[in-house]
Amino acid sequence: MFKILFLIIILFIFITVYSFKKKIDGILDSVFPSKNREKKSKDSLEELVQCANCGIYVPRSHAIRKIRIKGDDLYFCSSKCKEEYKSKQ
Ligand SMILES: [Zn+2]
Repeated sequence: MFKILFLIIILFIFITVYSFKKKIDGILDSVFPSKNREKKSKDSLEELVQCANCGIYVPRSHAIRKIRIKGDDLYFCSSKCKEEYKSKQ
């Protein structure tokens, strides 16, 4: 009889601790939404463009766009690369 009572108490403690942990996780998520941030960064994975000068790949929003040449958009990783490419032409 005592064994069963003991098991019930253990189970009760386990459930209490588990729900408490879930509550804390929820609070932590609202204060530090790191998981949501990870999701967002994955969603906002954008197309990579190649720097016409050094060949490095950079996200389109970080690239410096140059004029079109024969219908192709040229991108550069930095203004330095843009200037270098210009001087090569
Ligand atoms: Zn470059």
